[in-house]
Amino acid sequence: MCGPLTTAPGTTVVVGAGLAGSRLALALRAAAPDERVVLVGDEPHCAYERPPLSKEFLLGARSSGDLALAGAGCEHLDRAGVEHRVGARVTRLADDAVTLADGSQLPFDRLVLATGARPRTLDLPEVDANRVHVLRSLDDASRLRTALVPGSRLVVVGSGFVGAEVASSARTLGVDVTLVEAEEVPFARTLGAEVGTWLARRWHAHGVDLHTGDGVVGATMGAPGPVLVELCSGATIAADHVLLAIGTVANDDLFHHAWPGHGAPGLGIPVDAVGRTPVARVFAVGDVALGAAAAPGSARRRVEHWTDAAASAQRLARTLALGDHAAGPPPVPYAWSDQFGARVQVAGRVEPGLRPSVEESTLDSLLVRYHDEHGDLRAIAAVGRADAVARYRSGRAA
Ligand SMILES: Cc1cc2nc3c(=O)[nH]c(=O)nc-3n(C[C@H](O)[C@H](O)[C@H](O)COP(=O)(O)OP(=O)(O)OC[C@H]3O[C@@H](n4cnc5c(N)ncnc54)[C@H](O)[C@@H]3O)c2cc1C
Repeated sequence: MCGPLTTAPGTTVVVGAGLAGSRLALALRAAAPDERVVLVGDEPHCAYERPPLSKEFLLGARSSGDLALAGAGCEHLDRAGVEHRVGARVTRLADDAVTLADGSQLPFDRLVLATGARPRTLDLPEVDANRVHVLRSLDDASRLRTALVPGSRLVVVGSGFVGAEVASSARTLGVDVTLVEAEEVPFARTLGAEVGTWLARRWHAHGVDLHTGDGVVGATMGAPGPVLVELCSGATIAADHVLLAIGTVANDDLFHHAWPGHGAPGLGIPVDAVGRTPVARVFAVGDVALGAAAAPGSARRRVEHWTDAAASAQRLARTLALGDHAAGPPPVPYAWSDQFGARVQVAGRVEPGLRPSVEESTLDSLLVRYHDEHGDLRAIAAVGRADAVARYRSGRAA
């Protein structure tokens, strides 16, 4: 990755005012009070929490007014001297300035890209667009919340964390839920069949109709109106609404357009351990960043979890302000998912090739450890075993 950092005060422009961008802007101003920091976000609000969008917000337990990102609301940015613009989309990047949709330009000494990701979609041209949903933003969640009427039918395509959480909220609201998953066992590729089988059992127990090893080939509108979702297996499922929860695409187009030759658009912006891209004075952080490989032989990957986005923003801010030595060691990766009355926690990186061993599996608890070929513990996944997760995250044996 490119060049030494400059620590002389100047202007840092941060594109993307979500969790990573807002936290970085605040941490940078705190560590480098002479730095001018300009934060540009295309959403009409200051940063808010995305995790509740699939959970408490859908259930009506939290409203849009309750979602402001703690310590990073508009008033916090003002107080910290971060110049921030909402509803402002950056449309072009160049070596020394970014261009906004209104044609204005913001010159920078350093540029941080924190543009996150957008949901992957399916082309369903015959279906009324009002019946098809994705979930990333508050606006998406507001649309979906209106659709989840008790007694209605929802097909969720994709059983990752977001799909499973929406399925859980929808069941709580009295919606009939069908979950369609391409893998034979949910999470088999990412967390292993042990965790997937445990979760699938729980989903069944809560009344979810789970179709695994199957995919959507198309959809039409039936008369008088349900969406007819057609699966590879030949089955057709009638639904009032469909949620596509089939992963995300990185919002990295502007980077790859400005500086081609650094990987494929959609897969992320390559960064080193602190967020430095191959382009001088350009950095990336959060869901858009394609992180360094965890170990020799393993692949680069994007980590799309709250704690990692927040931690990487802090580390990059310290590095920008004080130099490489200030980043500190990276924290243990961590993610959680609340679904069907259980909190699933994953700590460490579950890389392909690790060996999962199930230490505990009851109706309400699960503890899986992942060891490498040397027998070293590299990650754990757990439900109802917050004690073991906390020990692992603090560097003590799980
Ligand atoms: C529904 C949902 C539930 C989740 N639940 C959990 C959970 O339970 N646990 C967990 O660990 N993680 C969870 N996550 C993941 C977590 O929220 C993300 O990892 C985190 O929000 C990433 O932050 P970010 O700042 O990188 O991206 P984002 O929060 O997406 O912010 C990026 C911002 O950049 C803006 N932007 C993009 N392009 C431009 C442009 N050209 N100009 C200006 N602005 C631009 C975007 O509109 C967005 O506002 C969840 C995510 C979702 C969507």
